[in-house]
Amino acid sequence: MHQYKGKLIIHTGSMFSGKTSSLEREVKRFTIAGYNTIAFKPSIDTRYEKSEIVTHDNTSLKGVLVDNIDEIVEYCKVQNPDVIAIDEVQFLGGDIKKIVASINEFLAQDITVILAGLDMDFTGQAFEIVKELMPLADYLYKHHAVCVKCGTDAWVSHRKTKDTERVVIGASKEYEPLCRRCFLEEKAIEEDIVNKNQVEFRI
Ligand SMILES: [Zn+2]
Repeated sequence: MHQYKGKLIIHTGSMFSGKTSSLEREVKRFTIAGYNTIAFKPSIDTRYEKSEIVTHDNTSLKGVLVDNIDEIVEYCKVQNPDVIAIDEVQFLGGDIKKIVASINEFLAQDITVILAGLDMDFTGQAFEIVKELMPLADYLYKHHAVCVKCGTDAWVSHRKTKDTERVVIGASKEYEPLCRRCFLEEKAIEEDIVNKNQVEFRI
C-alpha cells in the first residue's frame, strides 16, 4: 500500500454499485496498514443497525453516526485520526461550503479522507455536495451497478415508487439501477401514463 497522507479518495455512482463496499474495503486496508481510521455515517440513513455501516451485501463496519460535519470535526479533535471515512456523504447535514472547507482542512492536516456517496438523485440531478467535492479528489472512482432491464452498466438509481421527495431512504424495493437509455424509456412511459390520466380526467 502506498503511503497516503492528506489524500481525498471518492467513491461515487448509483445505488447498488458497490460504493460502500469499496469504502469499507479501503478502511480495512488502512487499518491493517496501521493507520488510525474512523468511519462516519450521516444519521439520516437508519436502514440498518445503528453505529454500523452496512453494505447492500450485508457486510458491516463499525462507524459513528453523525448529523453534520461539525460533529465529525469535534470527534476528530479528540481522536486524531490518520484516515476519515464518510459513507453516504450526500446526506451529511450542514452548509455545503462549510463541509468543503472542513474536508480541505482535514487534507491540509495530512488526514486522508475517503468518501462514498451518490452522484445523482432518482431524477438524474447531481447531489450538490458530491458535485462540489468530485473535482477536488486525488482519486475518483465512479462505480456502476448493472441495469436491471438490459444488463449494461447502470447510470442512475430509478425510484420505483411514486414518492417525489428527494430523499427517500430505501433499498431494492424502492429503487432499481438503470442505464441511461432504459431510464429515459421508463420516464417516457411514466410521463405517458400521467398525460393519459390527465386527458381522461378532463373528459
Ligand atoms: Zn439498460
